[in-house]
Amino acid sequence: MEGRPERKVIMAREVGFCFGVKRAINLTKQALNEREDVFILGDLVHNKRVTDELEDKGLRKTDDYNADSKGTMIIRAHGLPKIKIQEAKRIGLEVVDATCPIVLRAQEAAQMLERDGYQVVIVGDKNHAEIKGILGALQQPAIVIDTIEELHEAKDSYRLLRKVGVIFQTTHALELCHQIVNEMLMMCKEIRIINTICRPVQNRQDDAVELASRVELMIVVGSLTSANTMELAALCRHYNPNTVHVQNAEELAYEKFKDVTEVGLASGLSTPEDLVEAVRLKVLTYDSEPQMATV
Ligand code: SF4
Repeated sequence: MEGRPERKVIMAREVGFCFGVKRAINLTKQALNEREDVFILGDLVHNKRVTDELEDKGLRKTDDYNADSKGTMIIRAHGLPKIKIQEAKRIGLEVVDATCPIVLRAQEAAQMLERDGYQVVIVGDKNHAEIKGILGALQQPAIVIDTIEELHEAKDSYRLLRKVGVIFQTTHALELCHQIVNEMLMMCKEIRIINTICRPVQNRQDDAVELASRVELMIVVGSLTSANTMELAALCRHYNPNTVHVQNAEELAYEKFKDVTEVGLASGLSTPEDLVEAVRLKVLTYDSEPQMATV
């Protein structure tokens, strides 16, 4: 079309599901094929397209189980508190554990710190399922902090001891963890840190930041309920204010890319690859005002 700029889309090195999400989806599909009544507490992963597809295949989503519950319970990729798993087995439920091995390692790291006498500090979002799973793996209460302010609150209320063992939410941005640990160095006598940040997450963040820094427009594809996608978008926006976060191609407004020649494209770890591909094709081929632009 005349006047239309030649657009180029540069993809991040890895898009689509990480191995932990792929594994969880495969284990769930296998359970649905082999068993009768399969249910899950909450969403398997933070992507509606994925969870809708699994529910169409028969996966039942529920908030909790009770003594009358029957069937097979899937433990999602973020894990579950140990007591919930033990209780489910005790009342006779079958359990398929789709907890990501990297999340399990974070739980084990926290347990080891606790055994060695450290006050466990988890840098992460206290409302996230993964953090609840880690807290549930410990004997003593741990401190969960996500901001410098929360760290100061913990210190002011004497919850922060002099000997602390620190782990990180697996999907957290390293930059934020650095800031909190730096501040902690001025407060505690002894700090032991186990880096539990997931390597695929970190690779994607490093790669996306590098990409965002050199393109005119950066697009991050993924659910608004996905913590790692939200963090990825925030990180990219820090390096390139012209960053948009969309859940799918339909949400990407033509206005955003119509005058742009070089676009970077990255995705969260629970974003299906075909959603990213649809965004790529739209940027490359779309050349008129869409009917329903929402972003
Ligand atoms: S982001 Fe990392 S920790 Fe989370 S499910 Fe994927 S591989 Fe596992």
